[in-house]
Amino acid sequence: MFWLEIITLAKLIIILTLKVLATSNPVRFDIKVLKKMEIHQKLKFWFQLEGRDLPWRHTKDPYLIWLSEVILQQTRVEQGLPYYWKFSERFPTVQDLAKANDDEVFRLWQGLGYYSRAKSLLKTAREIERSHQGIFPANYDALISLPGIGPYTAAAVASFAFNKAHPVLDGNVKRVVSRCIKLAEGIESKKANSVMHEWLNQNMDHNNPADFNQSIMELGALICTPRKPMCMRCPIQVHCLANQEGEEEKYPIKKAKTSKQVLHLAFAFAQNENQLLIQKRKPHGIWANLWELPSRITQEFPVISDLEMDFPGVSNKDYTAVKLPSHLLSHREIRAQVFVFHYSGPASEGQKWIAKSEIENHGFPRILTRYFETSLP
Ligand code: SF4
Repeated sequence: MFWLEIITLAKLIIILTLKVLATSNPVRFDIKVLKKMEIHQKLKFWFQLEGRDLPWRHTKDPYLIWLSEVILQQTRVEQGLPYYWKFSERFPTVQDLAKANDDEVFRLWQGLGYYSRAKSLLKTAREIERSHQGIFPANYDALISLPGIGPYTAAAVASFAFNKAHPVLDGNVKRVVSRCIKLAEGIESKKANSVMHEWLNQNMDHNNPADFNQSIMELGALICTPRKPMCMRCPIQVHCLANQEGEEEKYPIKKAKTSKQVLHLAFAFAQNENQLLIQKRKPHGIWANLWELPSRITQEFPVISDLEMDFPGVSNKDYTAVKLPSHLLSHREIRAQVFVFHYSGPASEGQKWIAKSEIENHGFPRILTRYFETSLP
């Protein structure tokens, strides 16, 4: 413990030295001051030196902060960054997003997965336009009452944009806290949630919650990683119980994973010359509101006769069957087959004929865009 503390102090001295050299600020070193530093101060020093330079960290605009948070849910920063630029350029304000065409938003979202997020993005923007005159609410209670904004996002926007003292509790922060206190509860339980909130509230700088939240999230993303955390580079190593007992990877404690439900789907690639029949999905369930090829859920792996109800006589036609790679969603695995055949009948309700060149103007689920990319000229 003694040596650990010496090492941590040495690391902080180096960080402080670099900081002073960088700013030529005449700060006097005092070992007693460093030793007395609180968790939030250590985190802030580390963050100033090692935190990533990301565009949403240079703004206090609640809309842009919210946009980045929605994009980054279940998405790595490198993958989300181009989407942040696309959305913030095309829809620079929440009013612009509220007026957007649904299909355009789904199309821009294409490739990011979890389309319910795009849907909820639109819903929230329209509610802000409708009931807050297009102005983002500035406090946690008003934020969390909006559709599509949960406790994590409300705390992130309230603290980053308005400097309100609400701790954020995303997956990265949960990992750091659960390791620091060796949290014996399953990470998703209510009790675990309140214990972690309490720890964060006790250790947060209430005058500067934005920096505290940013730095502990960043620590979870860069240092306190799920596997092989880099504890020797961690600014709060001396405060971490799991590290003291070499049990970092035991935490957080998670519930055993349940196996994913398998969904079998038959897709009809019904074409007539250069035309393709597509249909809009329902406004709820997976891929809500996206476009798709006419489809049927099947009991087992699909065969052509599964499409007989929608395309009578299809089993006797010439067709090609293309098995798609298994596709994983958060709770489901999709096993699908596309049947390609000629069809010249009318479009049913909710369907339409489009030129194949228009495919890219429509938002499709990733499983189909991948198929189009590999199968169409
Ligand atoms: S010491 Fe290691 S396990 Fe503990 S918070 Fe730091 S990085 Fe995470």
